[in-house]
Amino acid sequence: MLSPVDEIKNKLDIIELISGYIKLQKAGRNWRANCPFHSEKTPSFMVSPERQIWHCFGCGKGGDVFSFVKEIEGLDFTGALRLLAQRTGVTLKKQDPKIKSEKEKLYEICELSAKFFSKQLAASGAGAKINKYLQARGINNESISQWRLGFAPDDWRALSDFLRSRGYKDQEIIASGVVVEKEIGAENKDQRQKYYDRFRNRIIFPIFDINGQIVGFAGRVAPGEKEDTAKYINTPQTMIYDKSRLLYGLNWAKTEIRKQDFVVLVEGNTDVIMAQQHDFLNTVASSGTALTADHLKIIKRFTNNLILAFDMDAAGDMATKRAIDLTIESGFNVKIIPFAKEKKEKIDPADILKSDPKKWGKIINSATGIIEFYFSSVLAKYDPTEVGGKKEIARIILPLLKKIPDAIERNHWIQKLSERIKTSEKILTDAIKNIVLPKEFKKNQVAEFSNSAKKIKNRLANLEEEIIGLLITAPDEKIIKEINSANIEFINPQLKEIFNELGGYLIKNPAGDEADFKKWKSKLLPELNLLIEQILFKLEIQRSDIDNFNNHLHNCIKEFKKEKTRYQMVALKIEINECEKNENKEKLAKHLKKFNQLASRMNE
Ligand SMILES: [Zn+2]
Repeated sequence: MLSPVDEIKNKLDIIELISGYIKLQKAGRNWRANCPFHSEKTPSFMVSPERQIWHCFGCGKGGDVFSFVKEIEGLDFTGALRLLAQRTGVTLKKQDPKIKSEKEKLYEICELSAKFFSKQLAASGAGAKINKYLQARGINNESISQWRLGFAPDDWRALSDFLRSRGYKDQEIIASGVVVEKEIGAENKDQRQKYYDRFRNRIIFPIFDINGQIVGFAGRVAPGEKEDTAKYINTPQTMIYDKSRLLYGLNWAKTEIRKQDFVVLVEGNTDVIMAQQHDFLNTVASSGTALTADHLKIIKRFTNNLILAFDMDAAGDMATKRAIDLTIESGFNVKIIPFAKEKKEKIDPADILKSDPKKWGKIINSATGIIEFYFSSVLAKYDPTEVGGKKEIARIILPLLKKIPDAIERNHWIQKLSERIKTSEKILTDAIKNIVLPKEFKKNQVAEFSNSAKKIKNRLANLEEEIIGLLITAPDEKIIKEINSANIEFINPQLKEIFNELGGYLIKNPAGDEADFKKWKSKLLPELNLLIEQILFKLEIQRSDIDNFNNHLHNCIKEFKKEKTRYQMVALKIEINECEKNENKEKLAKHLKKFNQLASRMNE
């Protein structure tokens, strides 16, 4: 019997799938397009109908139908599997019925609760007041129904009674986070007393995950309610609601973020709704927590450009500072929309959008680079011609510059700063070197130092793929032996596995024909097969001019050995640097000796 993955692959043609997202053009046996995953003017995104795979020769991404959907929809494998199963009508077996059904129950409870809340908004007297309030804030009926806004009545058990009447168990209702468990000791004979509704007399904003399923809720205090209650409360972290990864509005924003190649990050749910209502679809917010590194990783799937529309009056606020630091460290191009700088009163994006949506567009267009923003605000505050002012400016700006991962960009700003405060670049560079950042930043420093190691590693990865590809195109037992005796260690364990399998096959079938070879290949693990297809596809496109496979293969092997030595040398250099810093003389001598050995091998 076929696995669901194979069944989907049988039913779904890759050309049909991809052309549903982007415009493909025929190019010989293949199809091509401008890559949807990086910006380019000449198309280097290729799709092979024969192999049922895609590959971008610009950014290196590639794979099968699943990896395409993962990439373009921003899903994990399970999400992609679900989506494609639905599309092709393939039923998925439940892998772990217990966990699956537990999660499914939570989705059901959230969905049902959302229906309950929106009914309260539409049909109750108190709900009517809330509706008026939402309209007054500028949220129209379409948005209310799209975002499924609701109202939680002022009652301790309205929702939980409703859920129980629908047959859900206490444990399930508690696990969904819509109720608050009473503390131990407060137990009562009456089951109903075990917990109470979390949201009472609040405007409800359902929280959607990236697939548009409701996973939790945010409740805003109803207008006119006493000020001592928290303005917003949220469902706690649950099995289906991971706050550190969830971005409010991303389910609708993702396609537009990729298309426009930037995202606007706002602070409040209402800001997101109002922005999207006025066609600024690439707007999202973190929900129930400050911005995390995981949020940024998710955004990175769609774009590298980020505009922060944060309340900069709160720039002293640690959460905002941390958010700014995080975006800089993650290598985003960050711009900022500073609010309420001149006026005392706080202005929200939602307010601007309500009164003048066009103005919001202008504000987005005039967002300033984050470092520029710091430059101008600090320079406005301190006098760059006085010693004290210079020191203050450097004290604030330099740690920020140290966090910029890209050396060229960092240098650009050092030059600027040097001009502005009339201090030499050398002094500033030295000062940056001496700044000690908290531990978490040190990792990045090493990463940057080993950048050249990374580049060599990439070359090695390409070379070893090519070696395997050539071997598979023209299998040769002699070369297998040669590689074995030359002690070439493949870096990618999957390639090593393919190489070993291929060696075993060639020894058994020295005179095997194409049919034998196909049979051998079909017995490999599916992921190895996919990798082989990709390698062959790359070879077909990039190396269609090779006339002597053997010769070319020998050159690749030679090159591989050379690059590997180079790689070891760079790795050693990092070690040597570390030893010099720690004054570890013994280790240093050992490393230097090894380094010299490698260097002389290179010269040979
Ligand atoms: Zn690409």
